[in-house]
Amino acid sequence: MEEAFALAEEAGADGEIPIGAVVVDRDGNIIGRGRNRRESGDPLGHAEIYAIREAANAIGGWRLDGTTMVVTLEPCAMCAGALVNARVERLIFAASDPKAGFCGSLGNLVQDPRLNHRLEVIGATKRTGGNNSSSHDRSDTGNHPQFFFRRGVGVDPAELNAFLRLRLFSLS
Ligand code: ZN
Repeated sequence: MEEAFALAEEAGADGEIPIGAVVVDRDGNIIGRGRNRRESGDPLGHAEIYAIREAANAIGGWRLDGTTMVVTLEPCAMCAGALVNARVERLIFAASDPKAGFCGSLGNLVQDPRLNHRLEVIGATKRTGGNNSSSHDRSDTGNHPQFFFRRGVGVDPAELNAFLRLRLFSLS
């Protein structure tokens, strides 16, 4: 997550929406990194896409079985589709995106039972059906802390990092 935040900061410094993503293999090694580059002229230039592509190159194939994507913001529909197609096993995101997120906010492409692959998702928010996801309240804490931040506004990386590290190790 530290690496994802560093990449996000890099993107922000370049005038991009600060989003960073990494793909981590089973052993905890980072095999793919990406940051937002849409302002460079590529409408597909989302952090997750770069990270997936780099990880596929590292693995030498399109199947990213057993990998985890760690990203600072909930992926959009395009990236959620890419995660499913790449067979990424697990998704961890730091903040939900009520405007474009498709991993629980506006929809949930990565856990659609009609698709032939689903991801385990560890998100900033765990919303259940029936809840209006447009409201951001801090009261619905489950068994883990939640982190909210708006695009471009950071959370405490150390705190977030500790949380995610804990989650990563408890799940692996
Ligand atoms: Zn995206």
